[in-house]
Amino acid sequence: MSDVPRYSPDFQWTPLMACPWCGYEFDAVSQANAEVCAWPEPGDMTVCIACAHCCVFVTPATVRRAVPDEIDEEARQVQQDIRRMHARLS
Ligand SMILES: [Zn+2]
Repeated sequence: MSDVPRYSPDFQWTPLMACPWCGYEFDAVSQANAEVCAWPEPGDMTVCIACAHCCVFVTPATVRRAVPDEIDEEARQVQQDIRRMHARLS
């Protein structure tokens, strides 16, 4: 079994919010390692597709910066995937 995250073809629209690291505005999320994307719950981690920094949902409509201790291996993989995608597109 691979440790590489698999990304859901599904996604959730969210209220418009901004990444607390770079200000990128987003209004949808997808989920790694899930067939169906769940509505974000407080405490769920998300990775900004623009800057690849980790954020944590405070409410389904707000995120804050993640602290290093909160970033798990799955989030690190997602960060690597986003950085790899940016490198291929540049
Ligand atoms: Zn960002």
